[in-house]
Amino acid sequence: MAFKPQPMSSTRFDEITALCKRRGFVFQSSEIYGGLGATYDYGPLGVELKRNVREQWWRDMVYANKNIEGIDAAILMHPKVWKASGHVDAFHDPLIDDKASKRRYRADQLIEQHIDRLRSKGKTERADTVQKRFTEALNAEDMPKALHSLILSEEIRGPDSGAFDWTDVRQFNMMFETKVGALAGEDSSIYLRPETAQGIFVNFQNVLATSRVQIPFGIAQIGKAFRNEIVARQFIFRMREFEQMEMQYFVQPGTQLEAYELWRSRRWDWHVRNGIPASKLRWHVHEKPAHYADAAVDIQYEFPIGWQEIEGIHSRTDYDLSRHQEYSGKKMQIFDQASGSRFIPYVVETSAGLDRTVLMLLCEAYRKDVVEGRSRTVMAFAPSVAPIKVGVFPLLRKDGMPERARAITDALRCEWNVFYDEKGSIGKRYRRMDEAGAPLCITIDRDTLEGEGVTVRNRDTLEQVRVADDQVPAFVSDAMRGAA
Ligand code: ATP
Repeated sequence: MAFKPQPMSSTRFDEITALCKRRGFVFQSSEIYGGLGATYDYGPLGVELKRNVREQWWRDMVYANKNIEGIDAAILMHPKVWKASGHVDAFHDPLIDDKASKRRYRADQLIEQHIDRLRSKGKTERADTVQKRFTEALNAEDMPKALHSLILSEEIRGPDSGAFDWTDVRQFNMMFETKVGALAGEDSSIYLRPETAQGIFVNFQNVLATSRVQIPFGIAQIGKAFRNEIVARQFIFRMREFEQMEMQYFVQPGTQLEAYELWRSRRWDWHVRNGIPASKLRWHVHEKPAHYADAAVDIQYEFPIGWQEIEGIHSRTDYDLSRHQEYSGKKMQIFDQASGSRFIPYVVETSAGLDRTVLMLLCEAYRKDVVEGRSRTVMAFAPSVAPIKVGVFPLLRKDGMPERARAITDALRCEWNVFYDEKGSIGKRYRRMDEAGAPLCITIDRDTLEGEGVTVRNRDTLEQVRVADDQVPAFVSDAMRGAA
């Protein structure tokens, strides 16, 4: 059988987004009312994919480490949290409008893309000069003005219009504000959390007091975050409501860079284990880490829309805990028995976007190939994240084949997400499962009825093997764990 995978470079982002809608991975939110910008819903396949990613992360971060505990904090928090964290005063994006296309962009990203373009054209010296000026602009007292002059002097054009007609750069606060309670005169403003990290910081002493962890230890959380993203045009890459998978690792001051190196490599390896080739990942060191961080790096993935961040690893010093100590008046120090000292721990954070990880897996899995002269679309997910693990088909809708197929489906269903399908030709049923990314398909045919077992077809190799009925659960189990 001919199996000719096409290179990923031929993949188009719009094909992937169309498949997401067609096959029920992702829908536009409130679509019947024309949709709500940068807000999406997950359909039956998408929700499974997302759940699998979430579970993989939790297993790797919480269950696999005896010194990491999980929490699930509320989305609404005391407003002082965001004063202390600095979000009220400084959670801004520098935005610029292209007057010709009326589109809005992040000024810093326009410059970064310009530098990338110069490098890809081999203009290294010029790229280095612009990079240096960019760093200076980010550190300038009037950062918006400095970014604006750099865009003008580099003659960076509007990505959509090609025009050179910019407004000034302005800063926008990205937190969603809402009201609690109804008493007039009371300050009832409150924010939807823009990150999950602060829920961990404010619970740091609670976790310490109620679990057996000792420094160094981590607290992990997966949950929703909200940002009023102004530039939001890239499907689930940038949403106003999204999920983060964050872990804050509390360490002795002075050991933070060691922990930072440890988590850099652990997080990189996790993405590779989920089926992302290392060649499609790269590090992006922050030119200007936040003022409280002493090291910060992003892991970027090469999306069809270019290299983009999926996760940040940040060494945040004792900034957050010190600020909460100051604003709440509560002690954030701990007593370390081993060293006999009292101190505010330093923190290394790993912060990954759940939705961005899902989008990365969708982009990476998407393939078009030709089998026996007919083209097919395949989502080549790693078995661990595949939304449907097995498709089960009776070859014919008679002679007891559906009953046998249903019995096998039921035997697998308690452990795996299985899809039973008896409609259409067997070829069409395979194609449907290929598009959903099911690693295995099981067919019940006449030979099955005569005790010859079932046919199991592998999505990627197209190999077909016969497996005895009673061996099917073990076979599937091995395949899902990568042993078959
Ligand atoms: P970006 O520069 O792309 O806006 P960020 O540096 O502000 O991202 P962080 O605050 O470090 O992002 O958040 C950690 C992770 O949360 C990011 O790596 C990303 O995967 C995810 N994330 C952030 N903003 C969004 C969003 N609007 N939609 C989806 N995921 C997001």
